[in-house]
Amino acid sequence: MANLMLTNRCNYRCSYCFGMDFMAPRLAGKNMSAETFESIVEWISRTPENKSIHLMGGEPTLHPDFEHIAEYLLARDFSITVFSNLATAQAPVYSEKLADLPVSWVVNINPPSSWNDEQRRNIEASLRALKHHATITFNIIPDDDDSDWAIRLIEEYNLNRSIKIGFVLPTLTGSNYFLEDEDYSVVAEKVVKLAQEAEKHDIRLEYECGIPTCAFTEEQLGILWDTGSPLNSGCCSRLDISPEGDCIYCLPLATKEKRHFSEFTTYPEAKRWFENKLNPYRRLGRTENCFRCTLMQPKFCNGGCLAKILLNAKNI
Ligand code: SF4
Ligand code: SF4
Repeated sequence: MANLMLTNRCNYRCSYCFGMDFMAPRLAGKNMSAETFESIVEWISRTPENKSIHLMGGEPTLHPDFEHIAEYLLARDFSITVFSNLATAQAPVYSEKLADLPVSWVVNINPPSSWNDEQRRNIEASLRALKHHATITFNIIPDDDDSDWAIRLIEEYNLNRSIKIGFVLPTLTGSNYFLEDEDYSVVAEKVVKLAQEAEKHDIRLEYECGIPTCAFTEEQLGILWDTGSPLNSGCCSRLDISPEGDCIYCLPLATKEKRHFSEFTTYPEAKRWFENKLNPYRRLGRTENCFRCTLMQPKFCNGGCLAKILLNAKNI
């Protein structure tokens, strides 16, 4: 169930990156060692029903042993999801090698107009190899006037017919670019437009965590439902585990709490510890309406992103 951060290095420097407090160059660049990796897998395996692992970074394909790590997990019957931007020189090589194995790829794509020649070559070669194993994810930014490129990429490379949409969330330190409350209605409108266009291509939207349901009007929520892309987003995360083996709840809350995985007997125990730590803050809610809202539950809206709530609560 965990997200393994194989490295805190990344080939991109996205202004919206909510991992930047935890990444190089802000911290020293570090790859997860073989010893740490194998100890974490042994720890996760103590919960036999946990057979799913996410590999992320930074950019996981920058880890020098990425291929061996994937093979090690597959040999132990884990299902793997890789979170990658596919823009590294290694990405097309790994995409080709792993394309026919049970590995899913969630591909964080910036608009193609922002790619340089090398990034374009790597991303396009990787997508060509991965096909339906790759699902596009991206953040909708208020100033972007076109998100239809995602539909064009899915058609051109025969990718998974689903797009994961994110609202840009803040780090707890506010160090990245993120959406202010007044941006939400602008972005919500763009999401609805994309859902309507996507439906014509039999493509559906899914959603990253932290999108408050009330960013959308009742009418917009109805359109999302009708187009087969109903909003479904809460504030509940798999734990991320850093290259050193430190667990955090999620990258935006990386500076709030961290504990080494070895302090807990099992992954579920670690997850419970973090939920108990964060629960008192959840009562703050995003607005005064949250107290009366039936969606104020972890698997539903839960007030949107807790990092954003805490960032706004200046007296905590
Ligand atoms: S605080 Fe909640 S919504 Fe925000 S990134 Fe973490 S899990 Fe997602
Ligand atoms: S829980 Fe709060 S933020 Fe979410 S929909 Fe309800 S009122 Fe809005």
